[in-house]
Amino acid sequence: MLLVPKLAFDLLSDAEEAYKEFGKFSDETLQVLYDVFNNTFSKAVEFLETGEALQYETAKGTRRLLKVSDKHELYMLFPDINFCYCPVFKHQVLKQQKLITCKHVLVAKLAKIQNIIRSEVVTDSQLVDLLNETIEYVRN
Ligand SMILES: [Zn+2]
Repeated sequence: MLLVPKLAFDLLSDAEEAYKEFGKFSDETLQVLYDVFNNTFSKAVEFLETGEALQYETAKGTRRLLKVSDKHELYMLFPDINFCYCPVFKHQVLKQQKLITCKHVLVAKLAKIQNIIRSEVVTDSQLVDLLNETIEYVRN
């Protein structure tokens, strides 16, 4: 049975606290994350080896969007919302409820925890454009 997603994300918050304190993931934390997210976690770690997470935020930091990408894929995500429009999320998370989340959501979380997320300040209208492009993409 799947852990309640909320609980799983609470564990990520704990991992974040531990990371801040020790500057790395302990073996224990890595084990917990792997136990909770299974292969999604391994895939996210793998993705981060060649891919990256970028945070777009408006000057006041009131609105943010996250871009998770590598050479092959690009997904825009909302901070702190467990949603992605990739096929894995659609089928294995939403339809079959086999997974808690997809690797992209986890990549964004892990990048943030490890502070390897790049940040780019955009204007409100640029953010709206990015949002529209994303919506366009999801619709098609
Ligand atoms: Zn995804």
